[in-house]
Amino acid sequence: MVRTQRITPRMARITVGGPQIEDFAGAGTDENVMLYLYEPGAELPEPLTLESARVAMSRVRPYMRTYTIRRHDPAANEIDFDFVLHGDHGPASKWASNAKPGDEVIFVGPSPAYQPNPDADWHLLIGDETALPAIGAIMQALPTAEIKAFVEIEDAAEEQDLDVVWVHRNGVPAGSPEPLVKALEAAEFPQGRPAVWAAGERQVMQAVREVLVGRGVDRASVRPASYWRLGHAGS
Ligand SMILES: Cc1cc2nc3c(=O)[nH]c(=O)nc-3n(C[C@H](O)[C@H](O)[C@H](O)COP(=O)(O)OP(=O)(O)OC[C@H]3O[C@@H](n4cnc5c(N)ncnc54)[C@H](O)[C@@H]3O)c2cc1C
Repeated sequence: MVRTQRITPRMARITVGGPQIEDFAGAGTDENVMLYLYEPGAELPEPLTLESARVAMSRVRPYMRTYTIRRHDPAANEIDFDFVLHGDHGPASKWASNAKPGDEVIFVGPSPAYQPNPDADWHLLIGDETALPAIGAIMQALPTAEIKAFVEIEDAAEEQDLDVVWVHRNGVPAGSPEPLVKALEAAEFPQGRPAVWAAGERQVMQAVREVLVGRGVDRASVRPASYWRLGHAGS
């Protein structure tokens, strides 16, 4: 890991780099990878590679968690991941809040990336802060077509420099459907058919889907991704 930066009180940007990622083929938009994260002090195989990590798995087991590539800079050989710091009960969140330059990290990926329907009249992006890295990357990748994005965050201190509608939880716990549901029910949508990308807590996303269908969006075109599940450890 090259550097770490607290971009908002609850979001850590972890930059990884080096010759090992020279061949990394970035796919753009919401591409993500499975990170292998180790407890501090774990006796890691040397060199740490996916192969040596797998061989050592019975002795030293990583937490495996999925994170989005917020930025890939092939010239500098750098990748940024933005981690939501939701508390030390989450091993990945804890890892990110304690990470320091020189820490080793490996990952598998990337996944295929979102391909918006080219025939859509406009783009609708919805998520909580775990989806913010993807929403930021998708907004950069999309042409100047009309985009409306709704992002649920804790409060104003979590806002980033992006042209989105910020939906503050204002004390409502993360993983509750109300904030996004209310915002989407009240929102003005452009005319025509949207291409929808949505991701966040599983039940919140189910509620979001129903709101959109209720507002006339074709059910088959709303396939939100479950990025985490309240009360369940992720993988
Ligand atoms: C394709 C994909 C891309 C993703 N990209 C990102 C990304 O770029 N940045 C990012 O931060 N997350 C991202 N996530 C979500 C992240 O993988 C999960 O939040 C993961 O569960 C965090 O792991 P953890 O070890 O911190 O907590 P876990 O051990 O998985 O969970 C521990 C507890 O914390 C709760 N929890 C998990 N996440 C949150 C949260 N965000 N807020 C509140 N409570 C939570 C769980 O319900 C559980 O009760 C992505 C997920 C997917 C599937």
